[in-house]
Amino acid sequence: TSSASFIGLDLGTSGCRAVVLNDSGTECASARIAMPPPLRLANGGVEQDPELWWQAARTVLKTLGETLCDHPPAAICVDATSATLLIVTPDGRPLGPALMYNDRRAVAAAARIERVAPADSPARGPGSSLAKLIALREGMVGTTRRLALHQADWIIGRLTGKFGHSDWNNALKLGYDAEHLCWPDWVRDLLPAGTVLPRVVAPGTPLGRIAPEVASEFGFPTTTQILAGTTDSTAAVIAAGAQHPGDAVTSLGSTLVVKIVAERPVSASQFGVYSHRFGEHWLVGGASNSGGSVLRQFFGDDEIADLSRVIDPDTPSGLNYYPLPGTGERFPRHEPGLESRLQTRPSDPVRFLHGLLEGIAAIEAEGYARLAELGAPRPTRVITVGGGAANPTWTRLRARMLGVEVIPAEHREAAFGAAWLALQAFDGSSL
Ligand code: ADP
Repeated sequence: TSSASFIGLDLGTSGCRAVVLNDSGTECASARIAMPPPLRLANGGVEQDPELWWQAARTVLKTLGETLCDHPPAAICVDATSATLLIVTPDGRPLGPALMYNDRRAVAAAARIERVAPADSPARGPGSSLAKLIALREGMVGTTRRLALHQADWIIGRLTGKFGHSDWNNALKLGYDAEHLCWPDWVRDLLPAGTVLPRVVAPGTPLGRIAPEVASEFGFPTTTQILAGTTDSTAAVIAAGAQHPGDAVTSLGSTLVVKIVAERPVSASQFGVYSHRFGEHWLVGGASNSGGSVLRQFFGDDEIADLSRVIDPDTPSGLNYYPLPGTGERFPRHEPGLESRLQTRPSDPVRFLHGLLEGIAAIEAEGYARLAELGAPRPTRVITVGGGAANPTWTRLRARMLGVEVIPAEHREAAFGAAWLALQAFDGSSL
């Protein structure tokens, strides 16, 4: 007999990937395709034609359609990069390219937001979706209705044929008040007449059936439900297995990012700390400038792996480093002038690497201590993702310094997290 499946579709920074779970939560298929890099402009702009996302999504979903005959999809949940924004007509036609998550052009718009936004608003800064929306609207004349949509919102619209919904994770950097579940007046007041903000619902909320012509193109049943999505980083935390207050997720990639599930939202703008709604709870996070990019300044990945094998993680290096890739730190210390502290470089590369790993681990511990000071719980376990998660010496050293269990993530793909969200949305309902 055939059983239902649940699809998570991720539009990440370099490609589009889908993961399929069966109704017991086991991965039964996946597909991926690379996407061309966005266009980088000299003025700090980074933009992309949204049609490229849809082409990638279609290719991936059609591939799945050919393999899922015995497990027809019950639901699709989409996650995508946060603060990638576009403006469309009410029927979903893009008015120009999308501004990507790392577009930093909207400096003037950010200055306008600065004057009216609450101090802790995640919509501050030229990278926010709100700054991008204001900047995009400035280039448009007239008061015809125009919808502001995030990357995930628009892909969902392509799947259902109806545009105008978002979820409260994506909407956070557009100024949505995730605590009181409304658009604040100061956001509406910043926008010219005719600008339509999305209707915001919980991630995983059913938004409607797949459009019939899309279903037939993919070979999916016309009953396939399309759900409200989330951001790629939230989906990655779900995939990693964080659930309960105290569950922490450290990402040891080029930068060091710490996140923890909390019962109440926490924010502190000077540290760049803010909170996403996360199921019944909140997800509080902060990002240091330190991380693997500093390791890369001195060592290749193979070298790190080899040298790490001879480091004794139970003995302190005695070096007391604060490794940074350049000047300035935001979190766990707000010190724009902070210099990388790597004095007394030993001639022995093993000891030098030991000091670097220990220094980054100390910043991780300081990060969780800072979040606790701001009102988040202390970590009860630290799940790890990113390039550094694969280093057992570092894991042991970190466990000693953090004083809690450090475990690798169950799953690393944001697409898995989105699929999990889809499965949860249907859990208990009759299929
Ligand atoms: P991102 O996606 O943020 O660019 P990744 O998650 O791919 O980063 O991780 C890459 C980082 O991991 C690099 O900065 C590299 O120095 C670091 N790295 C790679 N291998 C190891 C290792 N065995 N131990 C510690 N760090 C490592």
